[in-house]
Amino acid sequence: MVTAPQAVILLKSRQNVMNTVIITFDDGYENNYTEAFPLLKKYGFRGNFYVVGNDIGKEKNQDGLKKYMSFDQIKEMHDQGMEIGSHSMSHDPLTSIKPELLPWEIYQPLNLFYQKMNFWISGIAFPNGAFNDAIIAEIRKYYIENC
Ligand SMILES: [Zn+2]
Repeated sequence: MVTAPQAVILLKSRQNVMNTVIITFDDGYENNYTEAFPLLKKYGFRGNFYVVGNDIGKEKNQDGLKKYMSFDQIKEMHDQGMEIGSHSMSHDPLTSIKPELLPWEIYQPLNLFYQKMNFWISGIAFPNGAFNDAIIAEIRKYYIENC
């Protein structure tokens, strides 16, 4: 069980990754903290949590069903070995936003996380898995890994 950055290192060094597992959680719902985090700690696993910048600390999602993690909860998970990454600022698919918003969606989470939690993130998970060559080019300016 490894973090995404550890997996990138393994792959780039051409090591055998047959028994390597990465667990990822997208969107930053509070149950990542209340349910998944305790289980990961219990079994000594490290999870990867990709959080939507604008949703941190929100009380309800658009369906009114789920609450989002707070900065304090995310920082606690980070401080206890969990990998935290970006899932953009708005969760709009990056292929369908106005091109001039792309740098903000990609770059602003780095600033936000550093200002609020005092650590740099290195990874991003694309909302809805949507990407293209222009998005990859922008991401390579700021991130060392993506999925
Ligand atoms: Zn998502």
